Amino acid sequence: MTAQMNLRAWVDRAVDEISWWQRGFGEVPPHPDAVVTDADFAVAFGELLDRLRDTYPFHHPRYMGQLIKPPHPAAVAGYLAAMLLNPNNHALDGGPSTTALEREAVARLAAMLGMPDALGHLTTSGTIANLECLFVARETRPGAAIAHSAQAHYSHARNCHLLGVRSVPVPVDRVGRMDLEELEALLGREDIGTVVLTAGTTSLGAVDQIHEVLELRRRHGFRIHVDAACGGFFALIADDAPDGVASAPFQAIAECDSVVVDPHKHGLQPYGCGAVLFADRSVARFYRHDSPATYYTSAEPHLGEISLECSRSGAPAAALWLTLRLLPPTPDGLGRVLRAGRRAALRWSELLSESPVLSVYQRPELDIVAVVPNAPDMSTVDQRTMRMLHEGMRSAPERGAYLAALDVAAAELRARGHPVREDAPRARILRSVLLKPEHEHWIERCHGEIEELARRAAG
Ligand SMILES: *Cc1c(COP(=O)(O)O)cnc(C)c1O
Repeated sequence: MTAQMNLRAWVDRAVDEISWWQRGFGEVPPHPDAVVTDADFAVAFGELLDRLRDTYPFHHPRYMGQLIKPPHPAAVAGYLAAMLLNPNNHALDGGPSTTALEREAVARLAAMLGMPDALGHLTTSGTIANLECLFVARETRPGAAIAHSAQAHYSHARNCHLLGVRSVPVPVDRVGRMDLEELEALLGREDIGTVVLTAGTTSLGAVDQIHEVLELRRRHGFRIHVDAACGGFFALIADDAPDGVASAPFQAIAECDSVVVDPHKHGLQPYGCGAVLFADRSVARFYRHDSPATYYTSAEPHLGEISLECSRSGAPAAALWLTLRLLPPTPDGLGRVLRAGRRAALRWSELLSESPVLSVYQRPELDIVAVVPNAPDMSTVDQRTMRMLHEGMRSAPERGAYLAALDVAAAELRARGHPVREDAPRARILRSVLLKPEHEHWIERCHGEIEELARRAAG
């Protein structure tokens, strides 16, 4: 096995080289009022490290709860090196090098999503990136409503509320994708300026049929925004292969007006890294503003002139650039990382379909797997889910299972072939995300242990 890079050595090198460069401007002794001694630091830092242990093992394949994992060591080294300088990617005067790195990294994301000429930038999060797209949607189609699926991320309805735009939820089909007959009926009835499609819902990883909505757009003339915060990187394995995902919706992203992807989800990045892309570069006009104190070092547009955020760290750009330099967003680069998680999800789905105590809620479309504890009625499903969730997290560290819960309706369970008596309208089931390639080699073992939890929850 090839050894992973030695993070400690590279962090040392970053500290050495950056302080060497800084000393080149002449030695600056620290101001005595800001001096912290190593002795004082040791005490406070010890306390911090202690407190940081109160968390979940995001790094471990046993952790499958939320879309969280530690960043790749390359991203950590890149982030730390840039953070020592603390550039601000708002304007070129705040960070010329990291602005260039951001442009290059964003261009790679744009190429990955089939929008090589897109206008784009990084954001602090997917929520802010989506807000920018809905803002541009409102400016482009003033007065019209915005439609999104009922399973779209909650932030769309809230962002619309913030923007003073009416948002209309569209019901979903039997696998959690926007129901296109419902969409068509809505388009016939109301002035919908923009349809938000989700490429990978946060709860189930369901991918809306973007390619089919293109067809509807020809007839109705709306804009399409794709929220690929969660699923965007799956474009790298959208090849219809047995361990890939469906190609048609991902290929269709190239024809859409805007798209959001979160490198801090499947892109191996630390938090603080979303990205937004617009097919039509002229939307920059909606962002136009004056800032008397900045924008003086260049006549080129600054990233802050096409962004709703002002100060924004340049470190995420450095981290993303460095990561993509090593694991490029291609099928053979980062695609292999995604494929391992995808294989783990498919394998688990198979194991679940043979299990006497658990069932797979629906076939996973990406790497999110929802699991139903077998039980005769809704309230027992809910009770067993919660017992398993709590028991899994209370187990010894080397036996634990860290899962999350998903609230579903009886009709949704029945539509997927789970025969449960409706003694309660809703129940929680288990939801997991196989975000790490390491899951591939752990899933059989984790499955056995999760089955064991299910048996105890039923006993
Ligand atoms: C995570 C997510 C968001 C929100 O992104 P943040 O980076 O958490 O702000 C939006 N949409 C979808 C589909 C997501 O999965």
